[in-house]
Amino acid sequence: MRISVLTLFPEMFDALKHSIIGRALEENKFILDIHNIRDYSKDKHLKCDDYAFGGGCGMVMTPQPIFDCINAIDPERRARRVYLSPKGRRLGQDLVTAYAGLGHLILLCGHYEGVDQRVIDLEIDEELSIGDYVLTGGELAAMVVIDGIARYLPGVLGSEQSTDEESFSNGLLEYPQYTRPQTFNGLSVPEVLTSGHHGNVKKWRLEQSVTITKKMRKDLYRKFTARNGKESGKEK
Ligand code: SAM
Repeated sequence: MRISVLTLFPEMFDALKHSIIGRALEENKFILDIHNIRDYSKDKHLKCDDYAFGGGCGMVMTPQPIFDCINAIDPERRARRVYLSPKGRRLGQDLVTAYAGLGHLILLCGHYEGVDQRVIDLEIDEELSIGDYVLTGGELAAMVVIDGIARYLPGVLGSEQSTDEESFSNGLLEYPQYTRPQTFNGLSVPEVLTSGHHGNVKKWRLEQSVTITKKMRKDLYRKFTARNGKESGKEK
């Protein structure tokens, strides 16, 4: 898979050079190309923003550099073109896994008051939000999307890590995790986890997942019980 990013702040994406995503990039498990929108500006001072028509205090990103940049990257319009925006469709696990199946994804990062509407109307397939709050720019949002997608690409997670039993993978939140020491500050690991009985461990984990989901996310719990019937998780 190829992910292309359009941004005024390419250096922010250095954050992805570390840990699991950094290793995946080094091993070419996916391609990430970062494009500086400013490189495409035809303004003599390489300006990429201007005052908003109609007034207001913030600046708006001008259409020309974005238009030229996106069409240089995707001249035949084959990629899915996404603009990170608080007004967009809310990111969830369903969308993350759908994006992970694409050949080429383009992420446009806005800044200031956002981008000129004509860029969205002419060049963008969908607007995507990472939550109901406003960030200063789309860069952190794009990194959230990239990290989420990368975990579903072949070979990115090692065999010891899996997406199968994680939160949201089966419509439930994940069960509690424990490691050594067996007792810490007076709290012991639940006995079942050290029993060596795989069937009981599996049952305990499902029960915990259901209980936690019921407590933390009533919306997910309702969907789970509608799909599986109230008894399936034997929640307390
Ligand atoms: N004026 C815009 C509004 O009220 O909808 C907010 C612009 S915001 C300060 C600047 C940029 O940050 C946006 O163009 C977008 O790319 C990004 N951004 C901010 N919040 C976001 C969110 N929740 N999800 C995705 N991108 C976001």
